[in-house]
Amino acid sequence: MQYDVVVVGAGPVGATAARYAALNGASVLLIEEHASVGSPVGCTGLLSTRAISECDVEPTNDFVLNSVRGAHVYSPNENCLPIDGGKIKAYVVSRKIFDRKLVKMAVDAGVDVSIKTRAVGLDRSKRLQKLSVLQDGVSKTITSNVIIGADGVRSNIAQMSGLGQVQKVLSGIQIEAPYSSNDTGFVELFMGSQAPGFFGWTVPVNDKVSRIGLAVPLGSESHAVQYLNDLLNSNQGVSARYGGGALDIVYGGIPLGPLEKTVADGVLIVGDAAGQVKPTSGGGIYTGAACAKIAGEVAAAAATEEDASENRLNEYEKRWRAKLGRELNIGMKIHEFMGGLSDAELDELLGSMNTPAILDMITEYGDMDHPSILIKKLLSPTNSRQMMNVFWAFAKAVL
Ligand SMILES: Cc1cc2nc3c(=O)[nH]c(=O)nc-3n(C[C@H](O)[C@H](O)[C@H](O)COP(=O)(O)OP(=O)(O)OC[C@H]3O[C@@H](n4cnc5c(N)ncnc54)[C@H](O)[C@@H]3O)c2cc1C
Repeated sequence: MQYDVVVVGAGPVGATAARYAALNGASVLLIEEHASVGSPVGCTGLLSTRAISECDVEPTNDFVLNSVRGAHVYSPNENCLPIDGGKIKAYVVSRKIFDRKLVKMAVDAGVDVSIKTRAVGLDRSKRLQKLSVLQDGVSKTITSNVIIGADGVRSNIAQMSGLGQVQKVLSGIQIEAPYSSNDTGFVELFMGSQAPGFFGWTVPVNDKVSRIGLAVPLGSESHAVQYLNDLLNSNQGVSARYGGGALDIVYGGIPLGPLEKTVADGVLIVGDAAGQVKPTSGGGIYTGAACAKIAGEVAAAAATEEDASENRLNEYEKRWRAKLGRELNIGMKIHEFMGGLSDAELDELLGSMNTPAILDMITEYGDMDHPSILIKKLLSPTNSRQMMNVFWAFAKAVL
């Protein structure tokens, strides 16, 4: 088997990278180790409107289950900061159907797909790559000019290429469960020691069922399961509305802080595999898809030129960092800053944001894909002294 480009991993990012490589004239093979695309699911499926359009799809009823316009953010003392985006900001989707849709779009663009095909070895050079796979248990070698590693948080391809690891991995857990939503237009976020170092969430699928989960840094004091049990049973607001049991359970790692380098001779790394995930939310579809398009274009061009050297592929690194690098860096600093606050400090911070002026500003400038825009507005000298006091620490830590 010989292709211009082989993409490892048929998640949303791999499917998009494969499609863009094919649209740019390359012969492309997309391989997936599982027997089924989009399964198992490791995601809440809360996709910003921008994330969906970045994937070149319309938010249609076949995969959209609910729409969301804001968040109720609960401080550790269970006070609520109501953030209303004023219009649809995100959709709650079936990731299984969404992922399959993206792979179908790749196939329509001319991509070959091989399921039950796991990449197990890689022999790289500046021109031809030899990828060893187990296809339905049988060893094979696939040759290609360029390999795109879109193989998720535990990326083999990044490791086999000597590109190391992302800066940090969170351990995420979530159940889909009976839960009476107060308002299906709002997600709920739980800050502080209920999910130290990140946050907990409920995301309504409808008024009777929500996805309830949290993430904590790997190596936290307790296991994520314990924190989830506590959220379900000890948080008064949650326990009063949780109906018990679970319809589904999801575990997964959330990589934060991109790889220092995402290219090597013959190889590009993209999506979760590269740590291209928003550190403030753990969302990786918008960022991953944006980078996947660049990866597909550069891989196709490099294959046509028969130059897969790191030097040639570096165009990908430069372009994705120019588009998203600064936002991911600022996001990482916000993540570290918020994770370092005590419950009392979080109570004070969120409490002091609960004023009409600040809530209006969040409505106007809040952007789940670009939180730095809001932070800058909150820090504007035209804001009141009280607000400046609240955010001075942000300024020092983040900018
Ligand atoms: C609990 C949780 C909740 C989340 N919620 C959200 C959310 O609401 N919104 C959001 O935007 N993001 C969310 N994310 C993050 C999101 O799921 C990821 O950013 C996204 O799936 C990344 O896509 P990807 O294509 O890079 O990787 P993946 O979706 O992980 O796909 C990688 C694919 O590669 C395959 N693969 C791996 N190794 C090999 C191999 N050696 N050979 C062949 N195939 C291989 C895997 O089977 C998989 O199909 C969440 C993550 C977690 C853990």
